[in-house]
Amino acid sequence: MKSNEAKMSRMEDILNLPVQDPPYSEFSAAHFNWFKVEGGRQGGDDIALIPFSRVDDFVKGESSNADCPASFRVESRRKRPEGSLSRPRVDGYLEYTLYWCSYGPEDYRDSEPHIGENSSIKPASGKGSRPGRRHMMRGCLCHFTVKRLYTRPLLALIIYNQRNHVDKTGAPCHGILDQESVGTRAMYAPRISEELRQKVMAMLHVGVSLDTIVQHHMEEVQRHGGPHIRDDFLARNDVRNMERLIRNACHELHSNVECSVKMWVQRHHKHVFYFEESSGSETFVLGLQSDWQLQQMLRYGHSGSIAFHTASGSKRLKDTLCSLLAFDSSHNAVPVAWIITSSSHGNNNTHKWMLSLVERLRGKDTRWRPHAIIVDDPSFQLSVIREAFQCRILLCLWHVRRGWLKSLLKHCHNFDAQREMFKHLGRILYSAGNVSSTAVAVEEFLQIYVDQSEFVEYFRSKWLPKLDLWFNCVGTLPVAGLEHYASIESYHLRLKSRVLSLLVEKSHRIDLLIHALTTQFHSFYWFDTYIVETGYFENLRDRFSLTNPWYQAEHISDMDVLLDEENLQFAKVVSQADSSMAYTLWNPGSEFGLCDCSWSMVGNMCKHTIKVAIYCRSRQIARPLLSAQVYMETLLSLLQNLPDDPLVLGHAISLVNRMKQDIKNMEDLSNCGLLQPVSSGTNSILAENIQPLPRIN
Ligand SMILES: [Zn+2]
Ligand SMILES: [Zn+2]
Repeated sequence: MKSNEAKMSRMEDILNLPVQDPPYSEFSAAHFNWFKVEGGRQGGDDIALIPFSRVDDFVKGESSNADCPASFRVESRRKRPEGSLSRPRVDGYLEYTLYWCSYGPEDYRDSEPHIGENSSIKPASGKGSRPGRRHMMRGCLCHFTVKRLYTRPLLALIIYNQRNHVDKTGAPCHGILDQESVGTRAMYAPRISEELRQKVMAMLHVGVSLDTIVQHHMEEVQRHGGPHIRDDFLARNDVRNMERLIRNACHELHSNVECSVKMWVQRHHKHVFYFEESSGSETFVLGLQSDWQLQQMLRYGHSGSIAFHTASGSKRLKDTLCSLLAFDSSHNAVPVAWIITSSSHGNNNTHKWMLSLVERLRGKDTRWRPHAIIVDDPSFQLSVIREAFQCRILLCLWHVRRGWLKSLLKHCHNFDAQREMFKHLGRILYSAGNVSSTAVAVEEFLQIYVDQSEFVEYFRSKWLPKLDLWFNCVGTLPVAGLEHYASIESYHLRLKSRVLSLLVEKSHRIDLLIHALTTQFHSFYWFDTYIVETGYFENLRDRFSLTNPWYQAEHISDMDVLLDEENLQFAKVVSQADSSMAYTLWNPGSEFGLCDCSWSMVGNMCKHTIKVAIYCRSRQIARPLLSAQVYMETLLSLLQNLPDDPLVLGHAISLVNRMKQDIKNMEDLSNCGLLQPVSSGTNSILAENIQPLPRIN
């Protein structure tokens, strides 16, 4: 521990102190240079400035002190509204939190039973006692204060009032430096860690039995050579208490749903990154992200893709639920944040929560940056997303594809018509670069299939009004690869069966949605990751985590794809379960391909479609993908109409160069498996056309 004894700062100067942000996920007092202040209430105390976003990391690190494992509880907390002070003191607070070591401040050492003893002395209870905790208080005086500064809300001032875990005589009172603690629980942290608690809760939520959890825990402790930290002493009773907690948990904290949500937010403020109540013209917005989700977003989102999945307007879900998805190493979509907004305003309030979310991530890692954001709703405020994440934006056509296909399967009863209409609809979207030809194409489609009246009716009422918005978006944004659609769809199906199905029609209680998302549904994803990382509980894997077609497609051999390059009407894929059978895939390689396997025939994206898309791309057969086509059309129209004005020409050249860079970036993305490669045919056309350009000046 270094401290800067030589220099005493005056409180007025604290803002000149360096802001310390150690590059570890958790850190403690030992990682800081401490300063002392002169005079005043804090005279002689150690102080340090850290980013406010890292206070929790400090409290965690400080709790896992090797000599003195502890846990710091909030002893008191005060808040002041912004704008309430006209002349704030330099150390004036917006939030004031006093953390105290759980082994203090009271001292009940005389009545403490020793570990392993079946004591009949129950800790006293009543006014002023801390039920269930009193028996372990050993008079520890270690405590510190955290002030979120009024004038600098992004900074926290830590004032360490007593650094050592000692009692009032100045002697160590717990941990390995305390002779009396050796061999008792007081040698360890007073409670199990938040991580272990979450782990047990998640296992209980997904249905692992109490016995299995205890058994698994004991095996793990044995594996690392017997107990040596508090977590290792997890008792059957601890697990039973958590089980009871889950059983008694109720989503309805108040009969009034708004009060209920507000109470939930107060109790779970750590998992809320944005909250705005609905009032007057303001819509309701709630942004949810657990610590674990934050870690996953940092881990898989950096240099990876983040996709939006928007669900709204169903009978059960009146509000809009937007899930942000990251993709793990098995291409599974992992929800890394949820945003619930009152409906109709949909995505027009993106700017409100998005900056808070990105600030949260950058607070943990200033270099964090995704490679691409995949949006699924053309009404998104793209400039807000671009500014917040500072990366490229791709468009996801999964909702369109699924909507059209589901309706075709429902309203048309002839497979040939289904696949032909589906292909035709895809062609219309392909022509999105040119709005006049799009209108003609739509009209033509509706005339050709006029006898499919049910579908035509659906298409007219549901899609015609918003088709321009989609065309516009397809014309300006590159389109994400089919593989992502498969993962997003797996997420969608799991969300539907595990969360949306629990919602009650016509009741629309947001608190029920919040409860379902943050308890069992969150636990399923936590548990999947735990299985993958540890290899335990393979037999308990949820079927949804095993049915991601992108992942499955990678296990189909190229030999099983039968494709006639002279006739690209269809391809065949040998069944993986029965090699004497093959499935036929129409319009191979396209987003609008249709396979005749049972999974595809109920409107889902099957592994055969994905496999053939990957296959076609790697051999550069079939048409170039939509994204490449849009680039090519824009570029060719630019080249055919070269402007005379040198200023406009200069701008055009810089635009072309940017596009060239974009295509190169997409190739880089595809090389690391994150995006489909751009067809080399397209690239060579582009390259030929681009080369003479720089010489024009
Ligand atoms: Zn202590
Ligand atoms: Zn299939």
